Amino acid sequence: MDEERLAKLRDMLLEKRRSLLGAIDSLSQDSASSKETTGTSRMPGENADAASETLDMDTLMLSMESEDEFLRKVDEALAKIENGTYGLCEECGKAIEETRLEAMPFATTCIACQKKIDYRRKASRQEGSRLREEEEDGKASFDADEEAEE
Ligand SMILES: [Zn+2]
Repeated sequence: MDEERLAKLRDMLLEKRRSLLGAIDSLSQDSASSKETTGTSRMPGENADAASETLDMDTLMLSMESEDEFLRKVDEALAKIENGTYGLCEECGKAIEETRLEAMPFATTCIACQKKIDYRRKASRQEGSRLREEEEDGKASFDADEEAEE
C-alpha cells in the first residue's frame, strides 16, 4: 500500500476516533452538550470524496454493537499503522482489498476470510442451537452485525 493511501486511511480513522470519543463523552454525560460535540467537529476544507467515505463509515457504524466496540476496532487499526502491519489479513496474512479498507478502514481480515469466519460462526451457531434448542442465543445480534459489514 502506498504512503498516500495509508495516510488517507489514517486520517479517516483519526477523524472517526474523534467523533466516537465525542459521542461516548456525550453519552456518559447528560445530553446537555451532545449536539456540539458530535458530528460538527469536521475540519473545513475536507474534500467531497473523504466526506462521502465518512458517510459510509457512519452507516456501517449503525450496525456496530456499540461505540466502545467500534472505538476498539479503530484503535487497533491505528496501532497497526504504527507498527507496520496495517492492511494485512489476520487470518491469511495477505493484503486486505483496498476497496474494503476504504469502506471499512478498521477491517482486520480480507473478504474471503471474513466470509469463512461468518460461515464458521453460522455453522457453530446452528450446531449449538441444535444441541440446546431451549436456550436463547445471546450471540444472534452480534452475528447479524457482522453480516451487515459486507
Ligand atoms: Zn485473509
